[in-house]
Amino acid sequence: MKLSEIKKMEDCGCFPTPVHELKNLGRELNCRLFIKRDDLTGLGFSGNKVRKLQYLVRDAKDRGYTTLLTFGGVQTNHGRQTAAVANKYGMKSVVIATVEDGRIPEKLSGNLLLDAILGCDVRFLDTSALKKGSPKLSPDEIKTETLKLRRIAADRVIAEYEEKGEKVYEMPAGGSTPIGCLGYFFAVKEIMDQLEQKNQKIDYLVCPTGSNGTYAGLWLGSRYFGAPFEVIGGCVSPHEEIYIENMVKFINETSQFLELNITAKRKDIHILCTECAGIAYDKPDEETFETIYKMARSEGLFIDPCYTGKGFTAVLKLLKSEKIPKGSSVLFIHTGGLPGLYSQQHLEKFSKDLWEGKEHSMVPLNR
Ligand SMILES: *Cc1c(COP(=O)(O)O)cnc(C)c1O
Repeated sequence: MKLSEIKKMEDCGCFPTPVHELKNLGRELNCRLFIKRDDLTGLGFSGNKVRKLQYLVRDAKDRGYTTLLTFGGVQTNHGRQTAAVANKYGMKSVVIATVEDGRIPEKLSGNLLLDAILGCDVRFLDTSALKKGSPKLSPDEIKTETLKLRRIAADRVIAEYEEKGEKVYEMPAGGSTPIGCLGYFFAVKEIMDQLEQKNQKIDYLVCPTGSNGTYAGLWLGSRYFGAPFEVIGGCVSPHEEIYIENMVKFINETSQFLELNITAKRKDIHILCTECAGIAYDKPDEETFETIYKMARSEGLFIDPCYTGKGFTAVLKLLKSEKIPKGSSVLFIHTGGLPGLYSQQHLEKFSKDLWEGKEHSMVPLNR
């Protein structure tokens, strides 16, 4: 498909999102530090998936689909943004949410609350058996097996919807298809224009990476538009080398689909696979929380425990280890995810860190 043939919804979200400097952190870390505010994309509590969904929902609508279906964890940001976009364009939405412990949450929190408010049909998929088998599966093997279970679940749900006369547009987790990638492909152009207006050059662009679409889009866009910066990803769950191999494959498939004539090789891809990834997907470690507190307390901005807390930890580590040299200019993409701050498990951790056992005092009212 030619780039010029692919269209997007023009009124889906608020673009361009702002870019501004993080002066306090830059001073502390001996660099110029900037942030691209994709936590302000403007629809359904914002986030990076709105960029992808502009293209995906246009594709779905143009081809006569009536329902958007996607996958994720219970706290999927992509699911929430999919539901919001579906509502805006008069479609239905279904999210198939993996429950690794096999339990359907008793209470609404974070994204699940927002899904419910949006009226999204959330179905749960029990993958707890994958963690119990022997021999033990590696995280990447669990990922492969989860995909198989998702296929079975999706076929069921699609059949059910089709019976009711709906036409279901299926998107993988994170909306990471070649069409979805266009969101971040063109974000590169948006960023280059913004930097030119500010007369500011940057050397490195850093983003969190999960289902590949954001990094792949940025990487391809940076080559296509001749950007003068390197794109670095920070994984949000620990991975082996296979993550990078898969990224290369995905980038090249996308490049082929879009007829870009750009080829990625292993050595061109810069991703921290484990250093900032915390314990597992949506399981941050102490360092992730330290990063969240640091950002809030030095710049007054929130980042989240599942994605951006880890992604920004990558920035801190790259600077500390001088893999990004002192004096460089770095742009971090804030991909959103803020409802995650209010998800049940993270609320418990925040309470432990910041509230329980601390002294709280009532202001005395006697004169
Ligand atoms: C999905 C998501 C990411 C990762 O983007 P991918 O395209 O899946 O790699 C990063 N940050 C947030 C907040 C997200 O929701």
